Amino acid sequence: MHDFAWVTSPDLVPTVRKFRHTEMEANERPDRHHPLREVTVILLTQPQHDNMIDRYFDATFKALRYYGEWYGEYPYDAITVVDPAMRSASGGMEYPTLFTGGTNRYSPKEASSPEGVTVHECGHQWWYGLIGNNEFEEAWLDEGFNTYSTDRVMKTGWGPFKASRYFFGGSGGGAYVGIPYVFDEIDQSSLGPGNGELRRYGKNDVMVRSGWEYYQTYGLNSYTKPALSLVTLERYLGEEMMYRVMRTYHHRYRFKHPTTEDFIRTVNEVSGKNMSWLFANTWFSSELFDYSIDRINNRRIPTPTGIFSSNGKESEPAPATKTYECEVVVKREGEVTAPVDILVVFKDGSLRREGWDGQYRWKKFTYYTDSPVSYAIVDPYMKLAMDINYNNNSKAVREPGYRSLAARKYASKWMFWVQNYLEFAAF
Ligand SMILES: [Zn+2]
Repeated sequence: MHDFAWVTSPDLVPTVRKFRHTEMEANERPDRHHPLREVTVILLTQPQHDNMIDRYFDATFKALRYYGEWYGEYPYDAITVVDPAMRSASGGMEYPTLFTGGTNRYSPKEASSPEGVTVHECGHQWWYGLIGNNEFEEAWLDEGFNTYSTDRVMKTGWGPFKASRYFFGGSGGGAYVGIPYVFDEIDQSSLGPGNGELRRYGKNDVMVRSGWEYYQTYGLNSYTKPALSLVTLERYLGEEMMYRVMRTYHHRYRFKHPTTEDFIRTVNEVSGKNMSWLFANTWFSSELFDYSIDRINNRRIPTPTGIFSSNGKESEPAPATKTYECEVVVKREGEVTAPVDILVVFKDGSLRREGWDGQYRWKKFTYYTDSPVSYAIVDPYMKLAMDINYNNNSKAVREPGYRSLAARKYASKWMFWVQNYLEFAAF
């Protein structure tokens, strides 16, 4: 009964605005040259949320725009957004051409409410509405795809920081803090508590399983794990190819009822690569990814001034002309195998990039150099968004006065949690 309380509430305040996709916006996409259809957006808000009206519209317009540009336009003339009453237990729900949001009068503009829930529920118009998957037997095909898509809209529309708030407690750029070179280019907002959830409960169930058959993992296997697997897929295929895959899948199955196999077939066909290994290791498995840098060892090679054998006769000088023999050992801690990149950074700033098929349990890289290894990172571009522990992905050689990378990482995460706590305590 309480579900209908908001419908009959005499207090709901209607505001109507038009979503219009401009020529200019349409032309920002290389493959789309005519604007999306105009949509009448009917927003019904609680009177005490009148200060959130613009934010609701902003979020709905961005959702209509980006989902429309990426997956194909919203095909109806109107959409209704309902801001539910507090404690009505009716927020954050999707229906065809209507969805409910949810917010708080005091939500600061940096917080992701009402934006996150608005973008997510609006996204369901595409994922379950236009693509009619079986929500009971293959829940990841709507919730997982929609969670992945929500994150993309949040990042595109507001930037990674706010997106990380959508995944409450996301690492927010903390995972590799302190390592200067490569990480500015990496968007880490999708990573966060999902990895911890995977670590704790990931082995309970295989993802491809009916929703009612999970043990404690409905949320993990319907939302988090499929979303993180799609991020992983995107990083292996590249953003442009991923976009083509998703768009093709959406166009091909719009108003139809695709299955998991239909998606995998589309991925392999559009990308021209056989990515079935990734799905076998993620969607059809309960095993986990975890790669680590296990050891760095810099050994000073003895100066080759001539070596004397035990009988006192002088032998040939050692052939080494370099100062150091450096070893970096990379380990596969998890059961899932994947090809990984390794970045080795030397004290003089020089870099070595390595690749490893990740099949055996460990691999050692040896270098003869004049500058010792300063630090090493496995999977530096975080392609494996599903790695259950990023803290062991890097290791640095300690020097006097050096604060360990792990300590800095934790410090940065701690600050992030403090900020989140302060922000959400306001609710
Ligand atoms: Zn959802």
